[in-house]
Amino acid sequence: MQCNQFTIVNAHCKAIKHILIIENSISLGSHLKEMIDGYFSFYCDVAGTEKQAKEMIQRKQYDLVICDVYLPDSSGNFLGELVRSDLRLIVMTGNDSEELRTGILTLSIIDYVLKNDVKTLVDYLINTIQRLNENRKTVVGICDDSKLSRHVMSELVKSQNLAYIEFMNGQEVYDYLVKEGCKIDVLVVEYEMPKINGLELIRHLRHEFLLSELPIIAISASDKPHLTVQFLKAGANDYIKKPFGGEELCTRINLTLDQLYIHRRNIELRIALEKAATHDHLTQLYNRNFFFTQIQHITADAIRQKKPYGILMIDIDHFKHINDTYGHHVGDVAIIHLASILKNTARTSDYCIRWGGEEFLILIPHTSIEEVRQFAQRLRSEVEKLSVCVGDKKITFPLTVSIGVAVDLKETPDELIQKADALLYEAKHSGRNCVRG
Ligand code: GH3
Ligand code: MG
Ligand code: MG
Repeated sequence: MQCNQFTIVNAHCKAIKHILIIENSISLGSHLKEMIDGYFSFYCDVAGTEKQAKEMIQRKQYDLVICDVYLPDSSGNFLGELVRSDLRLIVMTGNDSEELRTGILTLSIIDYVLKNDVKTLVDYLINTIQRLNENRKTVVGICDDSKLSRHVMSELVKSQNLAYIEFMNGQEVYDYLVKEGCKIDVLVVEYEMPKINGLELIRHLRHEFLLSELPIIAISASDKPHLTVQFLKAGANDYIKKPFGGEELCTRINLTLDQLYIHRRNIELRIALEKAATHDHLTQLYNRNFFFTQIQHITADAIRQKKPYGILMIDIDHFKHINDTYGHHVGDVAIIHLASILKNTARTSDYCIRWGGEEFLILIPHTSIEEVRQFAQRLRSEVEKLSVCVGDKKITFPLTVSIGVAVDLKETPDELIQKADALLYEAKHSGRNCVRG
């Protein structure tokens, strides 16, 4: 999909790996280091004074500085110096005063955090570092007809390691997402805009995207009664009343992103869980459990279409000998080798299943006994043709399989499996490396 007319700004920003903690309390500094190091796979440096911190910053490039407001040798404008050096900064303070808070927030920092409660401080820092790294792959759409407003929001979004695209009106967003099929991860949208206003845009977008797929934060300066509820009912995930501070916008975007990231992790986990439940770990073929979840559909479909389905029972010949001669690991390689032949020889509509140790089952929908016999012979000869090679061909040996085949419409799957199994047994007794059925 070509999405050239809009530029993604701040994409591919640097991952946070090198962190400097500047904290005059030795016990707190080392506790923060221990907790952050323990959670991530990198090491933080700790400085106890401004002088020490300056020396360390000269020697090493830090991706993030976590700095206490009060340092014993403070010159008074150290935080400003850090910001001017383009260092990404989180400020820690034990002082909850409004005056200090306002002062700190005039600086271009990621955030400030109170250090009254150490557990909360540690959780916050770990969560923020993790989010900042996750944010690198996230694109925020900023839709506002006011150039100034767009600029202010873009700068804030940038401070959170996020990439962004600016849109001047709702039509641009709709075309970008729906007509062109391009992607953003979160949308921040103003209410009053020409062409399509923010509320209408959200209504249109919710026909295409779920709340969990495309979170939307609505903003407005309007005093219209019930606007908040209208936005939320139309499908906004959050609403912010203008004028808002940068801290509020960033906090709300971050909360929305936390939800989005949890949702995405849940999807990944579900896919991994489904795969683990239906696939064999060693060969990545389907497992026996998958067979039983599918077989009802396949038999029902076979009966409806009056087209029988076939089953091949495949067993490696003298596999115990391979294990005993070369070891269990080489036996595993032979199983993987056979699995790849099965996958490459079968059609995509066939189901290759690891039935047990060195036993495999192939389920073939819509087939005939002639077709299945031919397929089984082809498979047997493919296996015979290709030797197993292990460890840069230091160990090479031939592999053969015996196969029992059964095709029917009237029998139950269990009966058909038993039939194929009995024919496999016959193949073993007829000297192996052959097909029966
Ligand atoms: P036949 O030709 O009659 O089938 O003889 P066979 O030696 O292949 O059959 P048998 O049933 O005597 O031995 C199968 C062996 O397969 C025994 C078992 O330890 C081994 N096996 C089962 N699963 C695995 C596995 O995942 N990896 C390895 N390396 N061996 C396995
Ligand atoms: Mg065997
Ligand atoms: Mg066996």
